[in-house]
Amino acid sequence: MSIHHVIDPATEEQIAEVELADVAATDAAIARAAAAQPGWAGTAPADRARLLRRFAALVDRDLEELARLEVSNSGHTITNARGEAGNVRDVLDYYAGAPERHIGSQIPVAGGLNVTFHEPLGVVGIIVPWNFPMPIAAWGFAPALAAGNTVVLKPAELTPLTAVRLGRLALESGIPEGVFTVLPGKGSVVGERFVTHPAVRKVVFTGSTQVGQRIMAGCADQVKRLTLELGGKSANIVFADADLELAASQAPGGVFDNSGQDCCARSRILVERSVLDRFVELFAPAVESVAVGDPQREDTVMGPLISAAHRERVSSFISAETEVIARGAAPEGPGFWFPPTAVVPAGPSDPLLREEIFGPVVAVVPFDSEEEAVRLANDTEFGLSGSIWTRDVGRALRVSRGVEAGNLSVNSHASVRYSTPFGGFKASGLGRELGPDALDSFTELKNVFIADS
Ligand code: NAP
Ligand code: MG
Repeated sequence: MSIHHVIDPATEEQIAEVELADVAATDAAIARAAAAQPGWAGTAPADRARLLRRFAALVDRDLEELARLEVSNSGHTITNARGEAGNVRDVLDYYAGAPERHIGSQIPVAGGLNVTFHEPLGVVGIIVPWNFPMPIAAWGFAPALAAGNTVVLKPAELTPLTAVRLGRLALESGIPEGVFTVLPGKGSVVGERFVTHPAVRKVVFTGSTQVGQRIMAGCADQVKRLTLELGGKSANIVFADADLELAASQAPGGVFDNSGQDCCARSRILVERSVLDRFVELFAPAVESVAVGDPQREDTVMGPLISAAHRERVSSFISAETEVIARGAAPEGPGFWFPPTAVVPAGPSDPLLREEIFGPVVAVVPFDSEEEAVRLANDTEFGLSGSIWTRDVGRALRVSRGVEAGNLSVNSHASVRYSTPFGGFKASGLGRELGPDALDSFTELKNVFIADS
């Protein structure tokens, strides 16, 4: 077994050592999950619900500790990290309602009774990235468990600590051994094994489009079920008739939250040309005043990037020739810091406009008409998220319908809620998580006909 040294990205100090699972350990965990699954699926719905609620209550009990752990492992601000732990609690509570309510149907047919059942898949393998270790894990494991599956979950190598903790809380809540197993390890080892192991019936993957494509190809071999949540290059569209003060003051939060390491980051701001100057006048000071620093502090708005390698990648998008219109502050010294930065791309093919940077860098681009705004918003391989700022209700509706993305918000950047569906168009993914329908993607629909004579 190899060891991973877990680093605090705000200090560059080692905070823990974690043993990484190898293929043999992964196979053993999958075998335990497969053995535990019939018993879990056969547990009375009310009892499964009770166990999930107890799990939620333990997450709530340890919320501050989970949040502190995330701050030191991932560099998330303490206020964000509390929200993330709270999200795990809420997602568990939400899906705790499911075992007793995921009802089938009775369909009129001649000669007997026709009913449908939502049957669990078996073992579900969940592969989690480092950007939101707690929520993204829960968006997979909560509905998967509620639907009667057992789960093996691989956190990102860089950010295993909160997932390991959640695995222990599940056991403490009384969820039986083998039902929910957290397996820290490398993507190329544990993640790959979820794809190739025949007992894993579904893979839930969040991460890069490149790895997602590889997993999708791998799953084809066994016609394995798959949900993909991949990258984004979402547009924040600001029309001249918008509340410009509000749009400009909210725009930094829409892209720099979690240091831009968010698949929903609105990393392209499209502004109607007639108000471009005024928007930049309001937006630039908002960028410069983002409080960047120690994520433990209550008043910090933006922490560090996740790793030295990631900072290197984010930095590579900015050169001496880049036209920077606003740049915020960043601490000196240890920590993987990068200042919030707003740029004007050099042209339509500039990587600043086309690639998911996954850091605090935003491109500002003017447009001249509603049609052009929609065309520019859709001029990307991605389609995850986006915002529309306007006071014209008809325009809000037309543009919302015109933008090819899974999650849009009007006069707001909030588009992810545990009770509503989340997922991407085009290269941003496949399938949906969260909301009432997520359960369907963790079950097979079975039809049974019983003759009456
Ligand atoms: P990544 O390689 O796609 O990692 C995501 C998860 O997949 C991690 O748990 C990773 O494990 C695992 N993984 C890696 N290779 C795998 C394989 N061959 N088979 C199965 N699982 C595998 O993403 P990254 O390298 O961390 O980040 C690269 C870029 O991806 C970012 O800069 C960003 O643009 C994008 N990204 C998007 C999201 C999102 O929310 N959509 C999240 C993260 C990253 P290890 O970490 O142990 O390698
Ligand atoms: Mg990778």
